[in-house]
Amino acid sequence: MGARGDSLPSPWLAEVELDYAPPLVGDHSVDVAVVGGGLTGLSAALEMAQTGASVALLEAETSGLGASARNAGHLTPTIGKDVPTLLRLFGADKTARLLAYSDAAILHVESLISQHAIACDYEAVGNVVAAVDPAQHRAIDRAAAAAADNGLPGCLLDGAEMGRRRLPASFTRGFFEANGGVLDPARYCRGLRQAALEAGVVVFDQSRVAGIDDSRPTAVLHSERGRLEADRVVLATNAYTPALFSRGSGRPPVSGARLSGARSLGLGSSGLRLQVQLFRTAPLSDSQLSRLPWTGREGIYTAHEALESYRLTADNRIVGGAKWVRYGFNNRALADVNGRVAEGLERVFRQRFPELDDVAVERHWGGPIFLAMDFLPRVGRGGRHGNILHSLAYAGHGLAHASYAGKVLVDMMDGGDGPGSVLWQRNGLPTPPEPLRWLVFQALNRVLGLVDERVDRRAAKRRR
Ligand SMILES: Cc1cc2nc3c(=O)[nH]c(=O)nc-3n(C[C@H](O)[C@H](O)[C@H](O)COP(=O)(O)OP(=O)(O)OC[C@H]3O[C@@H](n4cnc5c(N)ncnc54)[C@H](O)[C@@H]3O)c2cc1C
Repeated sequence: MGARGDSLPSPWLAEVELDYAPPLVGDHSVDVAVVGGGLTGLSAALEMAQTGASVALLEAETSGLGASARNAGHLTPTIGKDVPTLLRLFGADKTARLLAYSDAAILHVESLISQHAIACDYEAVGNVVAAVDPAQHRAIDRAAAAAADNGLPGCLLDGAEMGRRRLPASFTRGFFEANGGVLDPARYCRGLRQAALEAGVVVFDQSRVAGIDDSRPTAVLHSERGRLEADRVVLATNAYTPALFSRGSGRPPVSGARLSGARSLGLGSSGLRLQVQLFRTAPLSDSQLSRLPWTGREGIYTAHEALESYRLTADNRIVGGAKWVRYGFNNRALADVNGRVAEGLERVFRQRFPELDDVAVERHWGGPIFLAMDFLPRVGRGGRHGNILHSLAYAGHGLAHASYAGKVLVDMMDGGDGPGSVLWQRNGLPTPPEPLRWLVFQALNRVLGLVDERVDRRAAKRRR
């Protein structure tokens, strides 16, 4: 990868055309203003334009430079922590509604890809939640049983079935989620942007929103060089939302602009901004591929408390990572890559894929995810005139949820009761204030980390 690739926040971005739209300059007015041009913002802009509204999208950089083109590209129906936890927290009826919603989200992504002919290397191969040690088998069995009870497409893969499917030998048991698969997130995100442009959305790149004044029914958004009036605003800033409302963000609000209306949404502390890291190997040679079974090319993520993920790309590299997430006090943005995490991820990759000991890891990168206390997406509306909508906090599984956000928000505005209504008809759990939030994160991270370390030690011992 050349110098341009290394300066971009993910290697996927180096392989797409990154044309920037001109920034917002001067005064403009539209029906709907969307803040943030990742998958949430693009899907909201596209859906609202399709209702006949005039739509402008304001993006601080350009589409994909947030999480949407940095992610690992696993399209999964995962919602909440897992199905057994959903059942415990919400009961059978609500769990069934949440699962129906996430199923609809996957189908929606697949229809976007085909309807807009988005060339994003989508492989509808499903994903496997995999154990690396028998200590995780009970959790896999529980997840498979709960999925079967709720009619989700998929099945339990015992050791023999894992072998028959030629999944990598380090994974001892699995639950196959048949819906979804893997894709190239940058091609997908930029394809969705093209679809939004073709639907008439006006995109302003490099137009960071520094203030929203919602004192009148028509909201006014301020960026460095422009001003945009809109009857309705969609906040699509996901993990960047706390920075939008933080006084210490280093970007003083434009004179006369106000963030207070948006602050009344309570979004500044709606979740935890967590930093996730990934890596990518060189393309596997024919000889390396012949050593690696994995012919079904399913995405894999592990049954750890903090999961590891692995997948093959269209050019047969392995993209993997997650496992060690980091949190900065008061949702502070952290460096994309931490050296110790990078070393740890590479070490674990070597353990899981001993047959690939001669494959180079070429690049590490990272990005922020946003996590609500109940792990569920937050969708709602607020502001002084109830015309500031939001959808965020996808707990690291936003490919499906963010892409479906536009449909859900349009349905909410229309007073509908589609699959997404389960999200706006609930009160999210409040995130504890600092310093409690930091302490809770550190304590949970430590305890869950110890559980995972124990599993990993056992897995390493078994291999020896
Ligand atoms: C490393 C990593 C791996 C992941 N892997 C997966 C995966 O395999 N599968 C999966 O389903 N999900 C995954 N995710 C999560 C997924 O990428 C996100 O949930 C999803 O992209 C969120 O989309 P979004 O549009 O809400 O947010 P983003 O893509 O982050 O978009 C928000 C946008 O808002 C812009 N913005 C911020 N502030 C302002 C402002 N003031 N004015 C204007 N614009 C602003 C930002 O520049 C950004 O472009 C992963 C995430 C990360 C970071």
